[in-house]
Amino acid sequence: MGLKLLKTEEKIVAMLALDKLEDLLKVYPYRYDHNEVIAFEDWKLSDKVFFNGVLLNKPRVAYFNRRSSANFDIEYEGNIIHCRIYNRPWVNKLEVGANINIQGKYNGQNNVAVSNYSLTSLEDNLGLFPVYSLSAGISIQAYRKFVKKVYDQYHHEIIDDLPNNLKAKYKLLDLKTALKYIHFPNSLEEITLGRRTLKYREFLRFNLEAQLRIQDFKSHNKVPKEFDQAKLEALINNLDFALTTDQRSALDQLLGDLNSTKIMNRLLQGDVGSGKTIVAALLIYANYLSGSQSAFMAPTELLAIQQEEYLKGVFKGLDVNVASLYSAKDQKAKQAILNALASGEIDVIVGTHSLFQDDTVFLDLGLVVIDEQQRFGVNQRSQLFAKGIKVDRLLMSATPIPRTMASVLFADMDISTIREKPAYRKEIKTKLIKENSMKPILNEIINHLKNGEQIYVVTPAIEDDEEVNVASVEQIYKSLNIVFNQIEKLDVKVASLHGKQDSDLKNQIMQDFASGHYDVLVATTVIEVGIDNPNANIIVIYDANYFGLSQLHQLRGRVGRSNKQAYAYLLSKTKDPDALAKLEFIESHTDGFEISEYDLQVRGPGDVIGIRQSGIPNFILGDLEKDKAMMEIAKTDAIEIIRVLDNPDYHDIMESVRIKNNIEGVE
Ligand code: ADP
Ligand code: MG
Repeated sequence: MGLKLLKTEEKIVAMLALDKLEDLLKVYPYRYDHNEVIAFEDWKLSDKVFFNGVLLNKPRVAYFNRRSSANFDIEYEGNIIHCRIYNRPWVNKLEVGANINIQGKYNGQNNVAVSNYSLTSLEDNLGLFPVYSLSAGISIQAYRKFVKKVYDQYHHEIIDDLPNNLKAKYKLLDLKTALKYIHFPNSLEEITLGRRTLKYREFLRFNLEAQLRIQDFKSHNKVPKEFDQAKLEALINNLDFALTTDQRSALDQLLGDLNSTKIMNRLLQGDVGSGKTIVAALLIYANYLSGSQSAFMAPTELLAIQQEEYLKGVFKGLDVNVASLYSAKDQKAKQAILNALASGEIDVIVGTHSLFQDDTVFLDLGLVVIDEQQRFGVNQRSQLFAKGIKVDRLLMSATPIPRTMASVLFADMDISTIREKPAYRKEIKTKLIKENSMKPILNEIINHLKNGEQIYVVTPAIEDDEEVNVASVEQIYKSLNIVFNQIEKLDVKVASLHGKQDSDLKNQIMQDFASGHYDVLVATTVIEVGIDNPNANIIVIYDANYFGLSQLHQLRGRVGRSNKQAYAYLLSKTKDPDALAKLEFIESHTDGFEISEYDLQVRGPGDVIGIRQSGIPNFILGDLEKDKAMMEIAKTDAIEIIRVLDNPDYHDIMESVRIKNNIEGVE
């Protein structure tokens, strides 16, 4: 690294895990502060405001836990503005009478929640300022200076890899200018232009990667896997239930892949509760019959344990050796499993991240199933694929992705879809309760409990917090105990579950809940994915407006897994019209496809939480809904580039895509 770095700059490099300093320029601002002076009379509630005034009194700092808040007043155009700033206790050193620039949010009645302040001149603070996401202890000012320093040092070396013909065709900027406009804009127009170029480049690279993968899969044939179909059908006939038509046709597609010379690269999507696991289990059995090992990857230990039990249940009486691997297992047990895996004694391994660690070695890994695929990074997945040769891959996802979008996003994959749910299931009844308390539904809940039903209660937080006033596991756990057992004099066993507990405890609590030892489980979103306990038929979600749409849908999917009527109660006293619309939508819709389509429309895939939840690739700038047309064009361009590869104009971009895109486990 060529530059001499300050301490904070070293911190930034570590925070972003930068390999090369120039990579800092690829970290884009997520928004801009547009500092303009607006007269106080024109401030509206929740407006972002910027002003400059005189400090009237010494800031008063108050501490709570390890946080602090400070209050002070500023005179601005003859008005007294009450300012509050969090976690900057050193503001008490500011001198009364000082001239200060303040940036913040207007909370009404002359109150401003300050996000930033500075003592430099007003002129220096006016204009457009990029905002980046930073971790604590790094100031935005220092960060911006660092970006400038890196740009000044390296901008000559930036390789403009966009092909000239495309740049001319779409009137795109060269990469250097685009980066300059994004990081140091002089106008809103520059930002728009810079983003347009970078967005196209991002889409083009995405599509080039997908096209390269398609080529790679095509050029590597495998030996078709043979298996005894009669044995498989016998197992299917032995299940407690009949497969739905969708499950059967998905299974047939998967078996077709297994038995073909093409390496399987398939996404199985199906709404929560649609029964994907059994389809995967049957595929695993076919793979076992063909003589190779299978790996089933789950995102959490709770799920790994659950899926291990599930597979053991399905394969009961058969000679399939199923084991599991996750970090909480003790070292000796782990070693024994690793040995048995390497010797081929284990046929099916279920596990978490432990599966793709270096010391996990297979004798002959032939199939990888990844449950809740959106929870894993691309690199993690390919590390696992690389543990075998020409491994068949099945990715499963509970977020149905609208077809048009799926054909772009998963261009390199085949897709199977389970649409219908098992027939006996009743639709979950969802009710929005416009209060953040169980009071209005207490009688209903008590009746459910008296009928011996089990209940999930979900809260956004683990513990109480002075800053964010939302229901916490701790607080609801206490109050439900009091309400049910002391006031109502029932005998209700309440348990609590959250991410801070160690995994043995979590597993124990889940098992005890599944076995009926507890009636009520108060939990955070740790129960969000995959948990399957058909005895729990009621879910109550506190502060429901804090959760994303698909998250609410996933949470609700924890119930309604038996033939009993299930209920979801969404508690929220939000007045925000957008949040209410969201909750009302989920109240009146149960189909996961409709929900994800609505979600994409309202929030757009650009929403960070939405992306994490839905498993849609995270584009930094592009918005898959709004920029659909650009994405389609980029796909066409990518296909063309791959077709006429030897055009020297395409050399640079292919070089950079290839470096990033080494597909493992195919050869
Ligand atoms: P998901 O698709 O959300 O992963 P699961 O695979 O966990 O769903 O299935 C939910 C429940 O439905 C499981 O208990 C499973 O055994 C059951 N199930 C799956 N398929 C059927 C079916 N065809 N008929 C009845 N129950 C089924
Ligand atoms: Mg599942």
